Amino acid sequence: MIIDCHGHYTTAPKALEEYRKRQLADFGTPRHAPAKGAVAISDDQIRDSLESAQLRMQRERGTDLTIFSPRASAMGHHLGDAAANRFWSEHCNELIHRVCTLYPQNFAGVCQLPQAPGVRPDSCIAELERCVNEFGFIGCNLNPDPSGGYWTDPPLTERWWYPLYERMVELEVPAMIHVSGSCNPNFHATGAHYINADTAAFMQLLTSDLFRDFPTLKFVIPHGGGAVPYHWGRYRGLAQDMGRPPLGELLLDNVYFDTCVYHRPGIELLLKVIPADNILFASEMVGAVRGIDPETGHHYDDTKRYIDSIEWLGAAEREKIFRGNVEKVYPRLAPRG
Ligand SMILES: [Zn+2]
Repeated sequence: MIIDCHGHYTTAPKALEEYRKRQLADFGTPRHAPAKGAVAISDDQIRDSLESAQLRMQRERGTDLTIFSPRASAMGHHLGDAAANRFWSEHCNELIHRVCTLYPQNFAGVCQLPQAPGVRPDSCIAELERCVNEFGFIGCNLNPDPSGGYWTDPPLTERWWYPLYERMVELEVPAMIHVSGSCNPNFHATGAHYINADTAAFMQLLTSDLFRDFPTLKFVIPHGGGAVPYHWGRYRGLAQDMGRPPLGELLLDNVYFDTCVYHRPGIELLLKVIPADNILFASEMVGAVRGIDPETGHHYDDTKRYIDSIEWLGAAEREKIFRGNVEKVYPRLAPRG
């Protein structure tokens, strides 16, 4: 059993994107009147969109189950207001629920939260509860920067976020810390903004006592943890200089890294630096990088291939990375046959 903890519905039928375009076109005009409206997508369209992409790639790459969430770059928390983003998130999450209902063996749901810049995160609790209690979702994606590249909201460690964390802990759902698109032209979305945010979030956690307040709260930092594993010595040293506890003690009961690193040396570094107990297999397919690496002849995001090729990785560690750690971090993940 191989579980990919990071996949987005990037191949959703076009009607979804068209809904958002219509919604945003009206935004700020007299025509803008928040209403949920409808997104007309048939089950056959959902099947077609997955059979030719995610399901085919699961089969080809030898993975079994993908923890699946709405397209991250399209969350666009900076584009709408609280009401528009709520309706948008509801539609996106309902579509993920339909995917998981059609293919319960292949997908488990993770929700997009209806965040908006400057809006208190408690406004997301109702949608989180709906997704977990009614749809059986097992986690959420939490955007640490709903402003889309300007970082105008408080750090993740501020009490601003606490009501959401309290509910996450009660529901036993982790969050993947995941930004969306960038509206700051300095930061390319997937090449800079994503990796910056992963790194920034880790540093926020390092400087705080958040996990003293929430000992069971769990975060997954995607994209291999941004720059963190590569600069592990810097973070250990900064923690030491600040009089903080060692990183293992401070963060590693609560913070996990995925394996969305698109070359073998990067994966090898991740596996050498971060304890196997804190690494979750993921590929983010079909996602940020879709091409084939001419140096290997394989897709950059076929991350299972890199892990499979690392001969010094023990069988027990491999099992944890491909399955055990995911079941630990996502306790609501139902056992699969
Ligand atoms: Zn992602």
